[in-house]
Amino acid sequence: MGYRYQAVLLFGAPGAGKGTQGSLLGQIPGYFHLSTGDMFRAMDKGSELGRVFFEYSSRGELVPDEITVDVWSRYAHALTVLNLYKPHQQLLVLDGLPRTVRQVDLIRDHVDVTCVIHLYAKDREKMVQRLRGRALKEKRMDDAKEEVVRNRLDVYERETRPVLDRFDKSLVHDVDAIGSPGAVLAKILSVVTPIQESRFGNALT
Ligand code: ADP
Repeated sequence: MGYRYQAVLLFGAPGAGKGTQGSLLGQIPGYFHLSTGDMFRAMDKGSELGRVFFEYSSRGELVPDEITVDVWSRYAHALTVLNLYKPHQQLLVLDGLPRTVRQVDLIRDHVDVTCVIHLYAKDREKMVQRLRGRALKEKRMDDAKEEVVRNRLDVYERETRPVLDRFDKSLVHDVDAIGSPGAVLAKILSVVTPIQESRFGNALT
C-alpha cells in the first residue's frame, strides 16, 4: 500500500454545517479542505459526468459509489500534483466522503482516517430550515424543493449513518452542530488540533 492521505472526516446530515466548518478549517495552516459536493458542482454541466451528477443530485440521490470514488481519487491526485494539497504537510479535511458503507471500503487504500467529527443536531426541522436558507443564498437546486430536501435527509439516515459504525468508536467524536460557527469550530479544533500537531508539527515553522 502506498502513502495514504491522513484525514479527518467531517460527517453529518445535510445542513449540519460540514461545508461551513470545512472551509473554516481549510483556512488554518496545516489543513486542506476537500468537499465532494463542491467537487461535483464545479464540473462542466454539459459533460457526461456533469450530467450524471445533475441527474442524481436533483433528486436528492447519491452519485453511484464507483463513479464518486473514481472522480474523487483523480481530483485529489490532481490537487497534489498542482501542489495545492500537500499530503505530507497537511491534514486532509474530507467533507462528504465516505457517504456509504461501500465507499468506506473503496477509499481504504487511499485514506488513513485519523478521526471522525460527527456533527449532529437533535432537531431535524432546524436542518430543513438551514437548507432552505442556503437554497436562497447559494441558488442550490437540491435545496430548493422541500421533497428533495426530505429525500436527502432520508438517504442520509438509510445509507450514510451506517458508515459511522464502520469506524472504531474511539475515532468518532460527536459534536453538537447547533450554535454559532465559531462555537462549533472551537469544539472541532479541540479534537483535531492535537492530531494535526502530532502528525505534521507546526505548519508555520
Ligand atoms: P449536502 O451535504 O448538503 O447534501 P453536498 O454538497 O455534500 O451536500 O453534496 C451534494 C450532492 O452531491 C449530494 O446530494 C450527492 O448527490 C452528491 N455527492 C456528494 N458527495 C457524495 C458522495 N460521497 N457520494 C455520492 N454522492 C455524493
